[in-house]
Amino acid sequence: MVGGNAIRGSRVGAGPMGEAERGDSAPRRRVTYYCEHGHESSPSFAAEAVIPESWDCIRCGLPASQDPDHPPAAPRTEPYKTHLAYVKERRSDEDGAAILEEALQALRKRRSL
Ligand SMILES: [Zn+2]
Repeated sequence: MVGGNAIRGSRVGAGPMGEAERGDSAPRRRVTYYCEHGHESSPSFAAEAVIPESWDCIRCGLPASQDPDHPPAAPRTEPYKTHLAYVKERRSDEDGAAILEEALQALRKRRSL
């Protein structure tokens, strides 16, 4: 009973305080970030907040910076992967048969034991 009254009282008291907080909202500043694809992300920060140097693009997720001429380099893994895939493809033609033969021989040895 007593506890219920206390909660109700605090809720009534919180009303005007909440409105006051909403009334003078803290000044915010909007910072625009540019990613390598030219997307613009404009998050807003509290005036006192530390503005981060980079921001993840809201459209493609790449890192974006405040300098549109020098966006952060996107993490590039594709050239390496492509090269590796190319090497694997070439190897599979020439060495695939040999590797298979080795494996078969190993199997046969195991069976003969
Ligand atoms: Zn982007």
